[in-house]
Amino acid sequence: ASSKLLLLCTLSLSGGGVVAYSESQADAGKTSVQVNEKDCKKKRVVVLGTGWAGISFLKDLDVSAYDVEVVSPRNYFAFTPLLPSVTCGTVEARSIVEPVRNMIKKRNGEVRFWEAECMKIDAANKKLLCRHTGENNLVGNDEFSLDYDYLVIAVGAQVNTFNTPGVLENCHFLKEVEDAQKIRRSVIDCFEKAVLPGLTEEERRINLHFVIVGGGPTGVEFAAELHDFVNEDLVNLYPSVKDLVKITVIQSGDHILNMFDERISCFAEQKFSRDGIDVQTGCRVISLSDKEITMKIKSTGEICSVPHGLVVWSTGVQTRPVVKDFMAQIGQANRRVLATDEWLRVKGSEDVYALGDCASINQRKVMEDISAIFKAADKDNSGSLTIKEFEDVIDDILVRYPQVKHYLKSKHLRDVTDLLKDPEGNPRDAVDIEGFKSALSHVDTQVKSLPATAQVAAQQGAYLSKCFNRKNQCEDNPEGPRRFKGSGRHQFRPFQYKHLGQFAPLGGEQAAAELPGDWVSMGQSTQWLWYSVYASKQVSWRTRVLVVSDWTRRFIFGRDSSRI
Ligand code: FAD
Repeated sequence: ASSKLLLLCTLSLSGGGVVAYSESQADAGKTSVQVNEKDCKKKRVVVLGTGWAGISFLKDLDVSAYDVEVVSPRNYFAFTPLLPSVTCGTVEARSIVEPVRNMIKKRNGEVRFWEAECMKIDAANKKLLCRHTGENNLVGNDEFSLDYDYLVIAVGAQVNTFNTPGVLENCHFLKEVEDAQKIRRSVIDCFEKAVLPGLTEEERRINLHFVIVGGGPTGVEFAAELHDFVNEDLVNLYPSVKDLVKITVIQSGDHILNMFDERISCFAEQKFSRDGIDVQTGCRVISLSDKEITMKIKSTGEICSVPHGLVVWSTGVQTRPVVKDFMAQIGQANRRVLATDEWLRVKGSEDVYALGDCASINQRKVMEDISAIFKAADKDNSGSLTIKEFEDVIDDILVRYPQVKHYLKSKHLRDVTDLLKDPEGNPRDAVDIEGFKSALSHVDTQVKSLPATAQVAAQQGAYLSKCFNRKNQCEDNPEGPRRFKGSGRHQFRPFQYKHLGQFAPLGGEQAAAELPGDWVSMGQSTQWLWYSVYASKQVSWRTRVLVVSDWTRRFIFGRDSSRI
């Protein structure tokens, strides 16, 4: 009874919007508290997640027009692009996070935040079941349910181990701030262990073998950070083992950074080869133990095992269980990620929106249009196009759908341009339509889902908040501006992703970047561009100052090697 009283007091104090208190039996032996019964005039928007998508939605939302509640197990926003820098102490963990409550304070307290994880979305009754996941020795109920009028799902994704045996138990991941802090401690631990007396040289060598599985942007950036940390700081502190350190990147594809322009992946591979970072392409990890990593070489089918000191697994992401469960409820069980339309509304569910890594826009209309462009170009139905016609088709697609450009200009274009040459590498006169259709089917699946990046998540959050800010106005005038009346057009423009380029820091003050307008930039000047862009993108002046001062500290004093 006393814990219920305490909870009632807490809820009453936490903001005028909590209007009722009732208790229901959530599951055997557990009580769940229901907050926010619907007697509030404003529509209630519940946002799940305080990552890139959730925070960017909240930043621009007119919070006076809605009753806004935010649920997330993290009471902070993390600037994920700088997570690899946290693994080696180039920046400190607290410099890249912004407390959610600081952000709420700036919105005059009109947003309420609950530090909890949403365990279940009950779409039929517009209810959420949430559970506090912090310290579990604290008194009071951990579970509560929330009603919503509109739900914004922005819970991101979780690491994908592809069910590889031993990965969960023996690998580090690089997804959350805690992961980066754990890696930092483990790297130092590997060095401290390697210099202990009584170890053989082989044992020291094994302890200092750092393996990164996954040659995407995160894996590559971590490898580069680690290489800098070792060569700029640790070799001076652990001189006796400096020649025993080895960094290996294992990549199942033929190149690292293969979602970037070909020139960037070549530049990265050459840079890593000069730095002594061993890049093993065409290898798939099949199992892991605390001592060894076992992989299969794709070309020969040969299986080999390598001993390791530390493994970082960075191979991609998958849907979170709460989203999977929701997808099953709304008939999307057979999909990989939650499908939305181009207005970010979840298909098959009323008043639910999804954005960021947990969602994917189903751009079937775009792909249908693209197919029609190909068909129209093949005027004589011959099944092939001349090179000129082929190039016109690509140009036409890019003009109409700039979001496709990102894919066509990266590795997928290589698949397509390969069709322009015969097996000897000589240019062809014409392109076989079936051939490029099958090359394009690869593009097709990629284009349907935008890349899982902070850039997409942030743009979607900003777009959705604009729609919400105009919702009331549009409800009064559902057909939109007079000129659209009766035309069946939607009130809002569909979401359009604008690709602003992407960076790949490669260590040693070198970076590569794909910039808007098909620019590729590589080298030291790109690294300085990276510094300025990432400083400017910080969510607050507080974190901006902290990050820049961390970079300055690192230039002057080097990185801190304490294992704390
Ligand atoms: P997230 O930012 O992951 O946020 C999800 C939020 O949901 C979190 O607050 C989480 O606590 C919360 N949550 C989770 N489960 C629940 C639940 N059950 N109930 C309620 N809340 C929940 N992208 C770039 O564009 N450029 C980069 O340079 C870049 N670098 C990266 C480096 C690293 C190391 C990593 C890991 C990612 C990087 N990304 C980068 C990708 C980018 O971070 C993600 O695409 C982006 O975070 C997706 O945003 P999101 O809001 O969908 O998810």
